[in-house]
Amino acid sequence: YQRDFEERFNIPHITDVFPDAEAIRSTFCLKMRSPTADFSGGYPSDEEWHGYINNKDRVLLKVINYSSPTSAGAVCIDPDCTWIEQWVHRAGPREKIYFRPEKVKAAIVTCGGLCPGLNDVIRHIVITLEIYGVKNVVGIPFGYRGFSDKNLPEIPLSRKVVQNIHLSGGSLLGVSRGGPSVSEIVDSMGERGINMLFVLGGNGTHAGANAIHNECRRRRMKVAVVGVPKTIDNDILHMDKTFGFDTAVEEAQRAINSAYIEAHSAYHGIGVVKLMGRSSGFIAMQASLASGQVDICLIPEVPFNLHGPHGVLKHLKYLIETKGSAVICVAEGAGQSFLENTNAKDASGNKVLGDIGVHIQQETKKYFKEIGVSADVKYIDPTYMIRAVRANASDGILCTVLGQNAVHGAFGGYSGITVGIINTHYAYLPIPEVIAYPKSVDPNSRMWHRCLTSTGQPDFI
Ligand code: ATP
Ligand code: MG
Repeated sequence: YQRDFEERFNIPHITDVFPDAEAIRSTFCLKMRSPTADFSGGYPSDEEWHGYINNKDRVLLKVINYSSPTSAGAVCIDPDCTWIEQWVHRAGPREKIYFRPEKVKAAIVTCGGLCPGLNDVIRHIVITLEIYGVKNVVGIPFGYRGFSDKNLPEIPLSRKVVQNIHLSGGSLLGVSRGGPSVSEIVDSMGERGINMLFVLGGNGTHAGANAIHNECRRRRMKVAVVGVPKTIDNDILHMDKTFGFDTAVEEAQRAINSAYIEAHSAYHGIGVVKLMGRSSGFIAMQASLASGQVDICLIPEVPFNLHGPHGVLKHLKYLIETKGSAVICVAEGAGQSFLENTNAKDASGNKVLGDIGVHIQQETKKYFKEIGVSADVKYIDPTYMIRAVRANASDGILCTVLGQNAVHGAFGGYSGITVGIINTHYAYLPIPEVIAYPKSVDPNSRMWHRCLTSTGQPDFI
């Protein structure tokens, strides 16, 4: 198992394909140089060069010593349930770099939906590239589409251009779904002379980035493709959290608070808030926990009935009778089995979900009418308001470190990797390991149990 693990989490390096790839000494070190520093008279002394990370620096992926397979929330990953060492590569600047900064043309692309912090990551990729000495940095407009659409010229990027972009939400470069094939993208990269590609996006974007990395290897192009996971849902495997999640939870509380005030101020008021979370209920769970104003939290991972003696509606009736009002927080992917399956897909091939918030609102109105109790149901969908806000301070810092480490990874010669925070340390992981399946809330975990304790809701089955 140990060997298998180490193989899986080994990160692809340029020397795998080009064993004789030239490595030069990095000028990126803890001791910052003036932009006008001249190295022609020789490099500074060894003592001045420090702060490098080497390949023996590892971050522990798992810290729990599982006592049994049934420990709450823990999955026993080896037959004897004993300690297993799972280490991943620590992110950070390498002493040896595999690209000459003056020969680098770096491109940044943002794909998928919006997420707070995209501009912060773009900003720090650009700034870090400049510190390495890269002069040629461009943005690809509107996601992968920008590689093929001749009407969308590259956006030249520099510290000056990106200086203040983190002060607003969205993406300076624009985003999109769908777009050209992987081979068209790689053709375009070849034509443009791009040899470093930074890809900001979710699981779909990362699947694309990994395919681009493989295609570049197949064509023996010396290119580094590095991803930064962008998922507001926090559904990327292994990572403590992804950027934008903290901000989303923070912002979601405003919507919950509004729903609470509406519900509380109305006679028999019921507030329904739908939050993001296609397959993972992290935002709904964390926002419910943080706000303390939610009576019922519904997530995709935990099945529930609306009708019947143990259903959500019966509990709503109880809440109205006892408290006078109620707040429901539902993740967008929850209760999809109650909705008509249209088989509709978006441009990237993702299933279009039905609106569970509207469904709950309608069913609640119907139910209270049937039982002859008045109820004032209000529905809030704050999705686009949450996605568009700028990153909060904690996400801003996370984005800074991720952006910097993405550049360190590319200069270090790694490709087909992504960067994330793992056990409070930053690490590089091979892309396939983080997108194998979406990370989800474990219904047997302590955290979900804490959420249930906070809302006071029963099982709805
Ligand atoms: P979000 O979390 O917002 O859904 P995402 O990265 O998953 O982000 P998608 O719209 O699914 O967003 O995909 C983004 C881009 O990645 C699209 O341009 C899409 O064409 C491309 N893509 C998706 N899946 C693949 C894949 N398996 N191989 C190659 N490219 C892909
Ligand atoms: Mg996706």
